[in-house]
Amino acid sequence: MPEGRIVKAISGFYYVRMPDMDIRCRARGVFKKRKWSPLVGDIVTFERTENGEGWVTDIHPRKTELMRPPIANVEQAIVVGSLKQPELTLDLLDRFLVHAEREGLDILICLTKEDLVEDEKLIDQVRAIYDPTGYPIITTSIEKNTGIEELKRELAGKLSVFAGQSGVGKSSLLNAVLPHLALATGEVSRKLGRGRHTTRQVELLDLPGGGQVADTPGFSQLSFMEMEETELSACFPEMALRAPRCKFRGCLHRNEPGCAVLEACENGEIDKGRHQRYLQFLEEIHDNRRY
Ligand code: GDP
Ligand code: ZN
Repeated sequence: MPEGRIVKAISGFYYVRMPDMDIRCRARGVFKKRKWSPLVGDIVTFERTENGEGWVTDIHPRKTELMRPPIANVEQAIVVGSLKQPELTLDLLDRFLVHAEREGLDILICLTKEDLVEDEKLIDQVRAIYDPTGYPIITTSIEKNTGIEELKRELAGKLSVFAGQSGVGKSSLLNAVLPHLALATGEVSRKLGRGRHTTRQVELLDLPGGGQVADTPGFSQLSFMEMEETELSACFPEMALRAPRCKFRGCLHRNEPGCAVLEACENGEIDKGRHQRYLQFLEEIHDNRRY
């Protein structure tokens, strides 16, 4: 039986991408009974019907599962922050990074609007903060068309989602990497920019180098509601790396004796600002749990 990826879902229909066309499918009632329904991004097996449509008969195991927007099997988050206009907000950048880590995604940091930067030192400073995380970092400019080829290479062959605060340039990047005329600029901006309270349909778009990208940004919700305090440091790779050497199991890297993370902060191996934001997020998780 044929298999393919669901690229969009509209009122009970799932569009499964085949090399030559999308097959419009319905899902069997059995999924409803099990409260399990196909998601955009799912790889499914389906049965062709005589009218050229299909029935989804099986959903393949998911590698990842995002809830906002609902997409299965996303492999990579492009976490976007602008160097200028708006000014880079490390607090927000780190929130996006934590959420992407928590979903088990590969992460690429993309610093946009390089053309607006007057002093190159700003870029060096940001790189110094994030180098210990091991995340690849690219800088881009739509105006000067820099970094776009690099971004295309990073997107090739994977299912990716853009994430980052409004106005940082996500839809501009999406337009820059999509094949010519795949979507009118306005349409992408409209889709990406739509308010939180409107129901939006996420759709996966094919990239010319293979791979796909969601037309809706990921992680619209940045609270730490469903997280335990002990899980947070795993979402800071440079801390997770050192945590096994902490003296106490379950160390929260606050002020415990023999903490390898605090030691790394002291000797400059971990950026102190990152650790500060970690402490702040920890506090938020703690406060959530009191209610
Ligand atoms: P989004 O909300 O993250 O999707 O951001 P947009 O892609 O809509 O971009 C917000 C604004 O920043 C728009 O006015 C873009 O033209 C502008 N912009 C995006 N990328 C760049 C860039 O690389 N350089 C400059 N100077 N402006 C950019
Ligand atoms: Zn520790």
